[in-house]
Amino acid sequence: MHIELTEMMRCPERHAEGHLVLSTGEMRGRMVRSGLLACPACGREYPVVRGIVKFSGGGMRDAGGVTPDARTHPVEPESLQALLDLGGPGGYVVLLGAATRHAVGLAGLMGGIHFVGVNAPSDLEELPALSLLDCQTMIPLRQTVARAVVVGADSLGVEWLADARRVVLPGRRVVIESDQIPAPAGLTSLAREKGLFVGERR
Ligand SMILES: [Zn+2]
Repeated sequence: MHIELTEMMRCPERHAEGHLVLSTGEMRGRMVRSGLLACPACGREYPVVRGIVKFSGGGMRDAGGVTPDARTHPVEPESLQALLDLGGPGGYVVLLGAATRHAVGLAGLMGGIHFVGVNAPSDLEELPALSLLDCQTMIPLRQTVARAVVVGADSLGVEWLADARRVVLPGRRVVIESDQIPAPAGLTSLAREKGLFVGERR
């Protein structure tokens, strides 16, 4: 995980948002390869293992998705970039589940943006432009910290969609890898095309 991401993360336990405290172990440039995140509110601790933050939490949320291989419309990075409508560099883009596979393609097109993969497929590794967080109960980020969110086809449960809306900035976009789902609460539907739903946070 990128060290500056610490400020954007929250404890996944059901208490008010608060900052986590990072103790770093091994660093590689600005990336934390090993360390420990502690929550001052509830006392829980979360390790960073080979760069991946391992949040735990009671009860696995229903993923509510399909296997990515079932998708019939793989989206090109250029198309996804256009749909995200980000404009300039800077800030964070969240990639949920299988959508983390877009990180390399998007990073090649969009310099200066840091990507945050949540519950990435296990064969993916962190990159200077990609932090990885594992958490089965929520997107462990504070509200309104993301310039955009891409929700993978394996993460279509209503709670994940509500979380995508929670972390994205008002007026910014959530792209969902399904054109079959109803518009999630709080998102204005902008488009359904190429197997994708594109919404904007109200
Ligand atoms: Zn906590």
